Parts: sequence; structure tokens; C-alpha cells
Amino acid sequence: MKTAVYLHIPFCAAKCSYCDFLSFPEEDPARHRSYLQALAREMGLWGCKLRAAGIEVSTLYLGGGTPTVLSAADLEDLLAACRRLLPLTRGVEWTVEANPCTLTREKISVLAAGGVNRISLGIQDLNEERLALLGRRHTAAQAKQALLACKDYFPSVSADIMAALPGQTTEALLATLAAVCELGPDHLSLYGLQLEEGTALHAMVDAGKVSLPDEDMALDMFCAAREYLQRQGFVHYEIANYARPGHYCRHNLTYWRNLPYLGLGLGAHSFWEGKRLANTRQLERYQRELAAGKLPVTETIPVSRRQEMEDTMMLGLRLREGVSLQDFRQRFGLDLTAVFAPQLARLQNMGLLVCDEEKVRLTAEGLPVANTVIAEFISF
Ligand code: SF4
Repeated sequence: MKTAVYLHIPFCAAKCSYCDFLSFPEEDPARHRSYLQALAREMGLWGCKLRAAGIEVSTLYLGGGTPTVLSAADLEDLLAACRRLLPLTRGVEWTVEANPCTLTREKISVLAAGGVNRISLGIQDLNEERLALLGRRHTAAQAKQALLACKDYFPSVSADIMAALPGQTTEALLATLAAVCELGPDHLSLYGLQLEEGTALHAMVDAGKVSLPDEDMALDMFCAAREYLQRQGFVHYEIANYARPGHYCRHNLTYWRNLPYLGLGLGAHSFWEGKRLANTRQLERYQRELAAGKLPVTETIPVSRRQEMEDTMMLGLRLREGVSLQDFRQRFGLDLTAVFAPQLARLQNMGLLVCDEEKVRLTAEGLPVANTVIAEFISF
């Protein structure tokens, strides 16, 4: 059996103005190292369980936060700990998230030599003014250099780009995409800005200092971007993700197919043995519990069969391929079209969903209102 493992590195060079992820602006190597020690303990505990159950790790994803805020030596130790403590499969997809302002040639070569074969680079935009507004620490030139350097070392390079940003027009987004595409990424994630309460950007919008594009404009951006990227040879395989053939993110496919995965690190979540688990979000407690040999899980929620079916729809409909009727039947012993008959009838009538003999998936008309369609499958 195979599974996916996520490792959370909760440190960044600085806090971006829009970010509400569990990450701290922390560049103190001593604090990094004590966290990494705890993370290695957690990997050791789970690694033993996986080996005992004969389960191998087929995708490993180091995210955050900014894993590349760690020093080259710490990254090297972390990768060695992953190889030593986790039962990685041959051909494991091993991704590391990177921020252009923290990525050096030395770190890139440490990552490549340590087994990493996929980089997810947070570029977000190539407009200097907007990068500054977002609180990004890198310039457009640094982002481009980082992408080019990664292309020399990794078989798969992904870039994160943001849309619906303050002051951004469709033309500006297309210009960023064109400049990024010229550098030859294999995968692109295109996320709309989510204005989260408590962030600096939220306060700026509240105070009327900046304004966001309205819904129609945002929709126009996504449609234009989609058309452009498809013309460039990218497959639109998930609502926010595009890939060249053979470069889908296998790790994220595990989430979208609602399959089991482990999340290790501060505040990380898992879906394991029919339960949703969450680690503590308190750094001191995380380190204390692991020092005492205990897993730092603070929340364990059993997932009912009905809930699992709904989650499978909610996540699977994000994929352009949709949800396979056969996979659903094999997993739950039930016919998807019978379980969700009322929702399917309603959404098909509205032209938002299509159901053939093999799959249920969003139509082109359903795509812009995907969240509303998906919400139909959740009972509260
Ligand atoms: S680099 Fe990423 S995780 Fe860190 S503050 Fe910025 S958006 Fe958040």
C-alpha cells in the first residue's frame, strides 16, 4: 500500500500581507533546529507505524511556511531525516515549496542532491508594486532567476501565481503568465486572492486604501488565463491547477481523490484510518509532546460513511476529470448516481454538471460557480 505525507515548516522570512497560514516570521537557526528535532521525532513515530503496516510513502511534500528559509545545512539534515525515517518508495514524488527570496544556488543543489524532484515556487506576480503590496520579499527579477535556476536541477517545476489582486487587470495577469511561461514551468497553480480577516491586506481594504477587482472582473481574469494557458499546452486538470502532460501534482491528487494522507508538523492535518486528525498549533506544546515521545495530535474526528462520500464529491469535482462512478462504487459499494440523485438532477438541469456512464464532472458553465455546485453535495 502507498500513501502521501505532508511536512509543515512553519517559518518564513516575513509575513506576507494576505497570509493567514500557520507560519511565523522566524529566521533564528536555533529555533529552526529545535523544531526540526521535534519534526524528526514525529517522522520517527509515524515511520515505524507505516513500516509495521507495510505502507510506503509515494509522495512527500514539504510545505509551509517556507521550507527554504532553513539554512542549506538544516535542509540537508531534514532531507536525510526524511530518507532515514520514512519508508519512501522508489520514484517517490518529492516536492518542496520555495520562496524566491530564500532560495540560493547552494540550497537548490542540496535539495536536488537530497532527492527532491519537484519544486513549487511562490512567484505570485511579476509586478513590483503588487509584490510590495503583498509583502513579498522578492523582486520580479529574483523570481525569474529562481525559476530558471530550478529548471536546471529539477525534473518538475511549478509556479504559484495569484489572480484578482488589487490593481490587477486581465492584461496584467496575462503579461505575468506570458513572462512566466517563457521560462518553461511544467506546472502552474493559479489562485484567486482570498481576503482573510486579521491580515494586513484585509485592514488596508477595510480602510479603503486598496480595492479588489469585482466578481465579473475576477471571472474575466480566470477565463482569459485559462484560455491562454491551454493555448500554451497546459492541461487544466483542477480548478486552480494547470500542468504539462505528465506533470500533474501526484501529491495533491491524493487530497482531491479524498484518499488517506498524513500531515506532520505544527498544526498539520491528516486523514487516516477513517479519521481526520489535527496536530496542536502551539509550537511549545508541539515540541514538548514529541520530546516526551507522544504524537502531538489534539483533534481526532471520525468521518462517517456519508461524510466520506460527500467529501469525495466535494474534492473530486475540483478535478476536471471529475469523480469516477466505478471508483465510487468500489469504495462505498453504492451507486453514486443513486446516492446523490436529487443533486445530480438539479445541477444537470441547470447545465452545471454532466454525468455520463463513467464520470460526474463540472461543465464549462459549472466551473466559474464551482463552489456553489460543490456546496450542493454537503449536508449540514
Ligand atoms: S511566504 Fe507563504 S506562508 Fe510565508 S507568509 Fe508568505 S504566503 Fe504565508
